[in-house]
Amino acid sequence: MTVVEPDTTTAALADLYRQLHSDPELSFSEHQTAARIVASLAGTGCEITQNVGGTGVVAVLRNGDGPVVMLRADMDALPVAEDTGLPYASTKVVVDKDGKSLPVAHACGHDMHVAALVGAVGELSRRRANWAGTVLAVFQPGEELASGAQAMIDDGLFDRFPRPSIVLGQHVGPLPAGVIGHGQGPVMAATDSVQVTLFGRGGHGSQPENTIDPVLMAAATVMRLQGIVSREVASTEQAVVTVGRLQAGTKENIIPAVAELGINTRSYSAETRALLKAAIERIVTAEAAASNSPQPPRFDWNVSAPVLVSDPAATATTLAAFEREFGAARLMPLPPLSASEDVGVFGDFLGVPTVFWFWGGVAHEVVEEALSRGQLPPTNHSPEFAPVIEPTLTTGVQALTTAALTWLTSST
Ligand code: ZN
Ligand code: ZN
Repeated sequence: MTVVEPDTTTAALADLYRQLHSDPELSFSEHQTAARIVASLAGTGCEITQNVGGTGVVAVLRNGDGPVVMLRADMDALPVAEDTGLPYASTKVVVDKDGKSLPVAHACGHDMHVAALVGAVGELSRRRANWAGTVLAVFQPGEELASGAQAMIDDGLFDRFPRPSIVLGQHVGPLPAGVIGHGQGPVMAATDSVQVTLFGRGGHGSQPENTIDPVLMAAATVMRLQGIVSREVASTEQAVVTVGRLQAGTKENIIPAVAELGINTRSYSAETRALLKAAIERIVTAEAAASNSPQPPRFDWNVSAPVLVSDPAATATTLAAFEREFGAARLMPLPPLSASEDVGVFGDFLGVPTVFWFWGGVAHEVVEEALSRGQLPPTNHSPEFAPVIEPTLTTGVQALTTAALTWLTSST
């Protein structure tokens, strides 16, 4: 019998990363990404299933009796025009369903997450004499829409595949390469988005008395929404309410019939999250009534992710393993981030702990150069964000492998 060695060596992984980086795909369109994952896992001994929750890939590595440990990587890119100057930078443009051209780039580093998880599965496959149990490697689509985790659960992720007793995940970010950043408890914010339509009555710009002006209604609403965080949220809580989209009208002498607001919130507790949602609906409805709107506003709550809690006890155990693997000097405590992630949906659904950490992808000289100008290096979602391949990739593989081995049965 010929034993096929998994092709997840450093050079092959770096190749995979460059391919993913130069061919990014938007949320729920990760077809080539999925195909590359499947090809890269050949020889690892995994049972592989595609099209879970859309374009998701699930790889199950069975190695005898023992715990089931889930490792998760997200796969999707963003509608951003890459400006990194890298030889493998994305120049990709796609046309969306409305016929609009969109640039696409891996500006959040999910290509690095995919390559690191492929590497960790390869590593665990090679080291299968050292552990027992089952590794459930989940490549999740649609994280940037905060709906891919739920889509995989709705498609039977935990009915069709072994149910894990812990969920492990990581995110690359603008820390020095090779450094692991960690928190415990709430590490990333809950987020909710609502698209609001305000209804007025259109007419000639010279005759406002014959109209109900949705532009004024929208302006008053935006101002009043700022009072939620400053007047309604306790000073001991943190929250953000951002109106990132405000659209109305086509021409200065036409009063339009409708105005639209896109509102996004961040919060760190269920109570504050509920308060923000209720306050937004109350204020928008009241401002519409104050403007004598002919019909109540429409609310379309379309993005939602819970607070990401890195279970304190399980995080402490995992960090102790990281300290043995990397040394304390490479670990860096972080405050809770105001960005959000839907990885917590998996553990919340099962009632099992999630452990989530961050790892650095910025070359040390780039960090120092930015700091010398009084700035920070480009962060996730910036056109200039791209992790340096090494030592980022190797560190990501090592961190996931170390964390997985912490929760599998040791057989050495
Ligand atoms: Zn992102
Ligand atoms: Zn991300």
